[in-house]
Amino acid sequence: MARIALITGGNRGIGYEVGRQLGQRGVEVILTSRDDAAGRTACDELLAEGVSARHHRLDVTRDDSVQDLAAWVKAELGGLDILVNNAGIVFQGFDAEIARQTIDTNFFGPLRVTEALLPLLRPSGRIVMISSGLGDRSKLGPERRARFETPSRLTRDALIAEMRAFVAAVAAGRHEAEGWPSSAYAVSKIGLNVLTDLVGQELAAADRGILCNAVCPGWVRTDMGGPNAHRSVEEGADTPVWLAISPDVTAQGAVFRDRKPYAW
Ligand code: NDP
Repeated sequence: MARIALITGGNRGIGYEVGRQLGQRGVEVILTSRDDAAGRTACDELLAEGVSARHHRLDVTRDDSVQDLAAWVKAELGGLDILVNNAGIVFQGFDAEIARQTIDTNFFGPLRVTEALLPLLRPSGRIVMISSGLGDRSKLGPERRARFETPSRLTRDALIAEMRAFVAAVAAGRHEAEGWPSSAYAVSKIGLNVLTDLVGQELAAADRGILCNAVCPGWVRTDMGGPNAHRSVEEGADTPVWLAISPDVTAQGAVFRDRKPYAW
């Protein structure tokens, strides 16, 4: 039976290319997108290339959308082998609303989707979090940074509280005094790296044979990365695809770049 991979934000950019490369290796691809038409078009393009692909709607910021997807996966597919948490946003500028939306999409999105789909992941499954080199904890003040060391001693609830504290601090105009940088994107990916570590710790304890790791894809020529980025989407998708299917991967809860552990 072919393995099944579900990709968030699969209609364009790195997510689409990860789907394409997995599909070329015989994986059945569930391409999800928040916009139905964009997702169907992308799915049709994969089908035209001979990839086995299906589309389902998913907005990672909406609990109802995530639950609807999980119910569909259970009823239609019975389970999954690979989850790629790719959907992400970045804004120009910095204010309270940007902080809220960025954390909601880039941190709470993967958290929501992982919590809903992890029970449906089969043994030997993989979770891949698409993080970023900008998620660098040296951007945090010393006290704040100590809380984000890994292996993490935070509980999942404590990490959630940290992310909410950042959003509240930006709204109150005191984020710098509280040891946060003026980049919601950086904070969201720092949080995602720690979430990867925590999910990895939980999976190691559960002994289900499922691995969860994160990846910095490098600076990639997508709508987000822009035309001057150093890497093609093909290059950007390489390590995510490797983490998703290679038998060489044994790490749990780690961050990678170029197929190597990455100190963030
Ligand atoms: P793109 O902007 O090209 O694509 C982003 C994708 O995420 C789109 O499919 C978009 O959907 C989707 N998305 C955004 N918000 C939501 C949401 N609420 N629900 C579901 N899907 C959503 O970005 P990239 O392909 O460049 O980025 C993919 C990932 O890689 C991101 O997590 C990004 O942070 C990370 N990354 C990218 C780098 C780069 O240089 N490009 C560098 C480092 C990390 P829609 O079309 O509807 O907007």
